[in-house]
Amino acid sequence: MSEENNIKKGGISVQTEHIFPVIKKWLYSEKEIFLREIVSNACDAVTKLRRLAGLGQFDDTNEKFEIRVTLDADEKTLTVSDNGIGMNEEEIENYLCKIALSGAADFIKKYENENGGDGIIGHFGLGFYSAFMVSDKVEVISRSFDGSPTCRFICSENGDYTLEKCDNERQRGTDVIMYLSLEGEEYLKKGKIREILDKYCAFMPTPIYFDDGEEQDESKKENDDQKKQDKKDAEPINDVCPLWLKNASDCTDKEYVDFYHKVFSDYRDPLFWIHINADYPLNFKGILFFPPIRPEFENIEGQVKLYYNQVFVADNIKEVIPEYLLMLRGVLDCPELPLNVSRSYLQSNSYVTKVSGHIIKKVADKLNSLYNTQREKYEGFWDSIKIFVEYGCLRDKKFFDRVKDAILLTTCKNKKVTAAEYLESAKDTHEGKIYYATDKVSQAQYISMFEDKSIEVVLMNGPVDMQFMSLIEEELKVKFLRIDADLASALKGEGEAFSSEGLEALFKKVSQNEKLTVKFEPLANENVPALLNVPEEMRRYEDMMRYYSANGEETPSFAMTGATLILNSSSPLVKKLDSVSEDDKKERVASQIWSLALLAQRQLSASELCSFLEMSYKTLEDSI
Ligand code: ADP
Repeated sequence: MSEENNIKKGGISVQTEHIFPVIKKWLYSEKEIFLREIVSNACDAVTKLRRLAGLGQFDDTNEKFEIRVTLDADEKTLTVSDNGIGMNEEEIENYLCKIALSGAADFIKKYENENGGDGIIGHFGLGFYSAFMVSDKVEVISRSFDGSPTCRFICSENGDYTLEKCDNERQRGTDVIMYLSLEGEEYLKKGKIREILDKYCAFMPTPIYFDDGEEQDESKKENDDQKKQDKKDAEPINDVCPLWLKNASDCTDKEYVDFYHKVFSDYRDPLFWIHINADYPLNFKGILFFPPIRPEFENIEGQVKLYYNQVFVADNIKEVIPEYLLMLRGVLDCPELPLNVSRSYLQSNSYVTKVSGHIIKKVADKLNSLYNTQREKYEGFWDSIKIFVEYGCLRDKKFFDRVKDAILLTTCKNKKVTAAEYLESAKDTHEGKIYYATDKVSQAQYISMFEDKSIEVVLMNGPVDMQFMSLIEEELKVKFLRIDADLASALKGEGEAFSSEGLEALFKKVSQNEKLTVKFEPLANENVPALLNVPEEMRRYEDMMRYYSANGEETPSFAMTGATLILNSSSPLVKKLDSVSEDDKKERVASQIWSLALLAQRQLSASELCSFLEMSYKTLEDSI
């Protein structure tokens, strides 16, 4: 602190005994991250030495860089050893004895090239202390590449430390020995350590070997030498050159598929994938896979793993990846991402916005290119990717604009067409209208009438199809009409006109709806006595009201919708009915025709079904 003209100036000082408990509790929300931090430091130590070798300041010709994680359950220690750059006494004093004075930042400043940190993970100078979340003492034995004597640093959980030169003639590199505390006891299980290493370190850039301490078992002592040899030869737990780092042109389909199987533990093959390699200034890499999901049976929750220089950070960070892309599976490595910042900061960060914009563009480009060059294959994928595309379009207008030409509709005959193709085929019969059904079974009669006249009916029965339909209507200026919404001109027949005021009144009566419009039209299919038409807008409104009302009715009433009953004037049954003189019988048959018209349009309500059955039994009785 200095004093000038009575004004005191100084830097805020921190007392370790106060800051340590805070670090222990709050540094990371998940304790297990300590291992990621310590292994990342070991990786950085190797990366730094490689960097120096690259600059000609170190000869790495015969070097085999590696990291060893060793668990000793008897001693209750977990040790992370590396043969990287090491630290001399002064560096330990600077980087470990002072909190938040990051050696990584110093190193980057000193050896910076045009690409920035060159794969160095550390930045903030706090990672090392995360060891205290699980340890009551941490010992560091380190020998710098510069040949200075080996040093030993021992720090206790309250921040007291000792630092001394020691005569340990170890090789270059660092051992970080964590004496696990009560809070860290769960990390004495080898399964747990392996799990954390697999989660966070699976793609770190230096080979990592896990020694789970088994050879310390006395009973197995004879095999010790062999075992030690085996361990030496054992495979590292990580893949130091993950697929996303390669150029897409150097990767084979098999490599992508194998990578997908391994990383997402899915035995099935992905449908297709997108390899992103964004250059400066975005500077991130990744692979997104479209999983082979069947949305009607499966959960469509995907998994996008975020990495920072090959170090796993977290799954599904909504702030970085648009929510709808989280239905996919993938890996993204963003070394520019400001990690130790709040999520709300990420949301408003312009780099993050650009990354997510770039990903969206790449996904849309891939869909368009598949659509344009491999249409058949694309159609085969459509049922799996449809929900993703539709949801993405609904959530993000920009995404919609990019993929709008590659959106497919599925007809009831399982043919895939674009809206433009549909409209082109509809030019002569129903210009500008797309007929759709929402249920293949309950609307089967209408569907078959349309198909008899070669009018395609598209099936809109997905979870977001209704909202998606409104979006297409608005954006592409087309009109969707459910097949029961109006009488397509192609369904009309040639027969003679016919009308009957008596029948009109009778059907109003049996439908118990005075507002029902009854019309007479000759239909092409004379076996159908009557059809119900419900105006599209009114039906959508009613559907919506039912959807939003908590105890919505099972079936719509037609009191509101302005439904029209079309009586087929070509139908022999209707003509015959008009001439029946017996009132009772006439009403019963009319009531049954009404129920059948309802049934062809939707499910009957409980009371409608009861009266329909009763009526049918009576008619059967009459007919024998
Ligand atoms: P950060 O990694 O964010 O810089 P840390 O608290 O994890 O911060 O580490 C502080 C510094 O200690 C590192 O920047 C590095 O200089 C030094 N250090 C830590 N672990 C090692 C190691 N295994 N080998 C060499 N130096 C290390």
